[in-house]
This record gives sequence, C-alpha cells and structure tokens, in this order.
Amino acid sequence: MNTNLFGALTLIGLKVKLDRPIDRERPCCNNVCIIRPGKEPHAAELRCADCGQHRGWLSKPTTRWIEHVVTRFGAPEVITVRKAHTFQEEAPPAEPLSS
Ligand SMILES: [Zn+2]
Repeated sequence: MNTNLFGALTLIGLKVKLDRPIDRERPCCNNVCIIRPGKEPHAAELRCADCGQHRGWLSKPTTRWIEHVVTRFGAPEVITVRKAHTFQEEAPPAEPLSS
C-alpha cells in the first residue's frame, strides 16, 4: 500500500472551521473539524473536533487547496472553509430544486 497519499499526511490533525451551507443548516458543535487520514478515493476525512462525528470527506483537490493555504499563510491555527464548491463531492445529496 502506498501510504504517501498526496502529501495529505501533512494535514492530518489540522483543524478546519466549516462554513458551508450545510454546516449552517445542520451544524455540529462548533463546526470545527479535525482532518483525519482518509480512505481511497478520499484524501482525508473530516471529523468533528468536539464529538468525533463524521462530517465529510476531503477530496484530493480540496486537500491540495488546504495545503496551498497552509503553505501560503504559514499554517494558521484554523482554516475556514466557506466555499461550498470545494466540498461539493463531500456534501450530502442536495434537496432537488423546485420546478
Ligand atoms: Zn460535534
């Protein structure tokens, strides 16, 4: 098994603040998650920092984006994720739009 997964290991244990639409509709604790090792095809997993509940998966592109942020801004304590599209793959199925 190749455990060197995309450099994602550098992000393991990092806290991210979630501010996706789904996190406003159905928040969990403080919406702060810890990045955990993922399973293929996911690069990493998001777990609630407070209660440990599974909150979503991180795709490889999203993981790379977070890595980019960390690299650019020098590993801030908490990264806030607001852009829903970066988590599109991880979000639960959306309600069908009316009409
Ligand atoms: Zn929670």
